[in-house]
Amino acid sequence: MKQSLFKYFSLFYGYLGNSVLLALLSSLLVALMDGFGLAMFLPLLQAAGGEATTAGAGSGDLRFLLDGLETIGLTVTLTTVLSVMLLFFVLKGIARFAMDFYRVVLQQRFANAIRVRNLNLLVGAEFKHFSGAHSGRIQNTMSSEVGRLNQAYVNYFMLLQYLIMTVVYVVLAYLANPKFAAIVVVGGLFSNVAFVWINAATKSASTKISQGMNQYQGYLIESVASFKFLKATNLIARYRDKIEHNILATERQQRQIGVLNALTTSVREPLVVLVVVAAILVQTIVFDQGLGLIIVSLLFLYRALTSVIAVQNCYNSFLGVSGSIDNVTSFTQEMGQVQEVMGGIPFSGLQRGIEINDLHYAYDANQVIQDLSFRIDKYQTIGVVGESGSGKTTLVNLLCGLLSPQDGTILVDGTGINQLDKATYRDCIGYVTQEPQVFSDSIRNNVTCWSSAQHSDESIWEALRMAHAERFVRDLPRGLDTVVGINGITLSGGQRQRLSIARELFRKVDLLILDEATSALDSRSEHLIQENIDTLAGSLTMVVIAHRLSTVRRADKLIFLKPGGGYEIGSYTSLHQRSYSFRNMVDLQTL
Ligand code: ADP
Repeated sequence: MKQSLFKYFSLFYGYLGNSVLLALLSSLLVALMDGFGLAMFLPLLQAAGGEATTAGAGSGDLRFLLDGLETIGLTVTLTTVLSVMLLFFVLKGIARFAMDFYRVVLQQRFANAIRVRNLNLLVGAEFKHFSGAHSGRIQNTMSSEVGRLNQAYVNYFMLLQYLIMTVVYVVLAYLANPKFAAIVVVGGLFSNVAFVWINAATKSASTKISQGMNQYQGYLIESVASFKFLKATNLIARYRDKIEHNILATERQQRQIGVLNALTTSVREPLVVLVVVAAILVQTIVFDQGLGLIIVSLLFLYRALTSVIAVQNCYNSFLGVSGSIDNVTSFTQEMGQVQEVMGGIPFSGLQRGIEINDLHYAYDANQVIQDLSFRIDKYQTIGVVGESGSGKTTLVNLLCGLLSPQDGTILVDGTGINQLDKATYRDCIGYVTQEPQVFSDSIRNNVTCWSSAQHSDESIWEALRMAHAERFVRDLPRGLDTVVGINGITLSGGQRQRLSIARELFRKVDLLILDEATSALDSRSEHLIQENIDTLAGSLTMVVIAHRLSTVRRADKLIFLKPGGGYEIGSYTSLHQRSYSFRNMVDLQTL
């Protein structure tokens, strides 16, 4: 218990710093004020019985409190003892308020600190380490796990607070009657052994719950993303079974934790009373001491034992949610190791162009790009073509700085891409991906991307017009304010694509990447967009990846990638003349 308590303390301290110590100080004050207040009981009894002169006789070393009163000039009478007692309990009330209030404040601060930190880690993560397989874990870690972690935090701090109180009460009990206190403490420690097994079982169940929740969230995300396919093929029934199996397994773990918590709570008190009863019997029968001598010590020990029960309960509840701490901590560590390193040179816009020299990229043994060299001059349109799997997307990822060259260089206006501050560089990149990105929001926000800058509706319509999306948006019931469903489900594939193109045109970027952007369009729309792209040509630097060679016919240059890393460069006409495989591809498409 001690080891893990320290381990977790450093985690909480890491997020909250010295505030944690302040919170603990408030519990120390609560216990001390309570203890001093209770210590007034014996002189009170004695004062009430007319023994004011011998006041403090049963208080052991706690007599210093009474001596203290006399030192500041107060005579120990019923009234002074009562007033001092009242004062201590008022002070305790104030300390208790501070303790509880501060706990709530820190609890919120802690949860938010974790959320913000993980959010930053997520945003800063390197693309290459980011895979869909983690989506359930990311979702779970950022949402419900933070809630469980928050509970763990509360339980942990209440545990520490009760632990401090226990220590204070034990010390006071010891000062009041050392022998009696020692017997009870030793008995209490022995009774603790029974809980080792319960704690271990709770911890193990908690870890399994966290793992199960990660999986659950992953299944949910997948089933929402693939809903149409799963529904149409009724494979959703198998998904349902998988999710239900997961829910039931988690329920079993939750129930196990519930049983263990109930066991801890119910067994602890009788056990504690047994220890106290045994100690009183030893005190009175074996040592032949009167009850009067142990009354104050007993009061403290009773308080201490109640605190011990609370410590034990908090500890078990803490263990019940501690799986989340391990889950979140390992997530934070893993994300910390895959953070993207940004160069320090800010980018303010493309001036001359991008130069690719002897570029290499391989996924393990799969050599995708080899010795690739070419230039993209400002305002040029470059077509990237090649059969599926030839490395077109990989090349684009390298151009965006999402992947780093394994050999060779990418120079943007003469500066190595890794020396650039990639955030500002990417501000200047527009990207229309194969799967058009449409957010579950209004058309307006889909085009402006929640930009805080002031912009007129006309500028939005202008972008929509360029992307050949004006007509369908005008026909929507609420025009620019129409909200499209999740992933733009209420739009057709072609409309989604046009909307994505409009967004990038609205952003007025320097380098526009169109990744098979017209693949989901019918020939008429494709033709219209093609015309628009052609109008843009010359006013924007463009990299167009296209399966349909017709879309890049007029590009200034084509990079024709071949599987295994080979490539050819030239205009459409020159490639057609000299490259057999290019001609082959054109012929196949014409067919
Ligand atoms: P294209 O866009 O031309 O279809 P890609 O650049 O997507 O080609 O892929 C090129 C090759 O690299 C393919 O063989 C593909 O399987 C492989 N590949 C792509 N991404 C990864 C990845 N993240 N991990 C391993 N291999 C990958």
